[in-house]
Amino acid sequence: MPAEILDVVKEFLGRDHALFIEGKALRTAGPSNAVVDPATGQVIAHVREASSDEVDQAVASARRGFLRWANTSPADRGQKLHRLADLLEQHSEELAQIETLQSGKLIGLSRSFEVAQAAHFLRYYAGWATKITGQTMSPSIPSMNGERYSAFTLREPVGVVVGIVPWNFSTMIAIWKLASALVTGCSVIIKPSEFTPLTILRIAELAIAAGIPAGVLNVVNGTGSVGKALIEHPGTDKVSFTGSVPTGLAVGSTAMQAKLTRATLELGGKNSAGFLPDFDIYKAVDGVIEAGFLHSGQICAAAERFYVHRSQMAAVLEKLSAKLASLRIGSPLDENTQFGPVTNRPHQQKLARYFDMARSEGNEIVHGGRIIDGPGCYVEPTVILAASRDATLLKEETFGPVATFLPYDDEEELVSLMNDSPYGLSASIWTNDLSKAMRMIPQLQVGTLWVNMHTLLDPSVPFGGIKASGIGREFGSAFIDDYTEMKSVMMRY
Ligand code: NDP
Repeated sequence: MPAEILDVVKEFLGRDHALFIEGKALRTAGPSNAVVDPATGQVIAHVREASSDEVDQAVASARRGFLRWANTSPADRGQKLHRLADLLEQHSEELAQIETLQSGKLIGLSRSFEVAQAAHFLRYYAGWATKITGQTMSPSIPSMNGERYSAFTLREPVGVVVGIVPWNFSTMIAIWKLASALVTGCSVIIKPSEFTPLTILRIAELAIAAGIPAGVLNVVNGTGSVGKALIEHPGTDKVSFTGSVPTGLAVGSTAMQAKLTRATLELGGKNSAGFLPDFDIYKAVDGVIEAGFLHSGQICAAAERFYVHRSQMAAVLEKLSAKLASLRIGSPLDENTQFGPVTNRPHQQKLARYFDMARSEGNEIVHGGRIIDGPGCYVEPTVILAASRDATLLKEETFGPVATFLPYDDEEELVSLMNDSPYGLSASIWTNDLSKAMRMIPQLQVGTLWVNMHTLLDPSVPFGGIKASGIGREFGSAFIDDYTEMKSVMMRY
């Protein structure tokens, strides 16, 4: 049975949405974009785009917000983020339903990841508020007349942060960006994806209820050009972007050319999972599903390249296909559904092109490989056996439920295949042999490596890519470097 849509959700969807600036939802006359439920193809809300005047207003508000916020005490900032986490939990069902309606995410995932995990991350970041410190140094400058020197560093908030958020985890990724900014004393302007602009508008209202001052969190809607205008604006200081590699390269180059705007780029790539022959094949099949099919593979850290020992390939493919065939495909609002739609029509069409390409290049479609006709944006969970290591599906990110397999013969070949990519966000190795895992860890070129697990993130563990998968780190203490500037102070006495 699909979840009953709450009255507060119906009321929220019916509003004339636009922007959230200076603590208030702003009515505007901008062009209106339809937000479409990808499960049904129906329009569920309208959101108006910001004009360039409204971008200016948002930046002016964020600059005022920055001055207010940076002058509050660290403990106060931490408490307000904790209060916002309380409010996310109190409004959990409402936020989860809005998220599922705009993105097609399974309702269980919206409740557990988008809302509960977002609150968990927020509390983790809140804890850092009182723990951001500099260092002291003892300079060795020669002393002529008995004078001495001391030095220390300060960590100061970078200023107004532009957080550009993709459509795959529109609540959680927005929370990562706003939490990193707010806990370090920055203000933030969130630019959501045009496909999924709704949850952050509701969270901005909750932030005011949590006591976060007006202007500290603004939301500006629109397409990529609005994001670009925010990065180039003289009043912004940093961009934190999560999304695709091509857009990330454009964002990084806009940021550098504009005014050396600081940039954290968390991009996708073509992540791999390597299964060693000692690993139980039933567990390997569950591992493939965890690594490649959670949220229909629409996760930047998800694996898309799967390397299995030649002796086990046929058995793994057979068991995986049987498991995928048994998945209940249906409405994401129904708790019994195990596999929902992808988030938007252009993405469904892009996946259809990849299926055609896989066939025309002579790869074997072992399971799935078709879009599911109907008003919703459904595609079949798909398993492909690549004809060679040069297959396009081992090179380009599909960002969908498409697992491409290639056999290997020995460990050296496995490492070479896993590293055969210009990207380096994440990878996983699956083995019961700890010494083999320890030998492989230093050889794999990625920012995050999992052993016997994949995709799951924790706020205490830094996350980010190497090679063309990004610059900078989120989580842990590593994010602090990206959201603060270091000031060095030297004193003679
Ligand atoms: P993009 O990476 O293109 O967009 C991500 C965000 O950046 C959106 O908010 C987008 O706005 C904004 N944006 C787009 N162009 C610019 C720009 N020039 N300057 C500043 N901001 C910009 O993802 P899409 O949503 O367009 O999806 C395209 C493909 O990217 C997907 O099919 C998927 O394969 C991949 N993808 C990968 C992700 C990852 O984490 N690896 C995440 C999301 C998508 P708007 O959408 O409103 O135009």
